[in-house]
Amino acid sequence: MAQYKYGQYLHQLDHEAYDIRHSPGDTAPNAGIYRCVACGDEIGIAKGHTLPPQNHHQHAPGVGKIEWQLLVYAQQKK
Ligand SMILES: [Zn+2]
Repeated sequence: MAQYKYGQYLHQLDHEAYDIRHSPGDTAPNAGIYRCVACGDEIGIAKGHTLPPQNHHQHAPGVGKIEWQLLVYAQQKK
């Protein structure tokens, strides 16, 4: 589970970007932390980089398919 110390630097936001499930090998549309819906594994990734494909993250049989969901969006200043 993702952790933090200073909550004042995180902002809760109800945005549809957090509901989209991305397949392994998809391009990350946002920078930040993504969580595997099936096993809870988390990764940090830059915008436009490739979400780990099947052969970078193996599930035990029965865990379910790998799907990455945005957990924390890393907001850059313009
Ligand atoms: Zn997983």
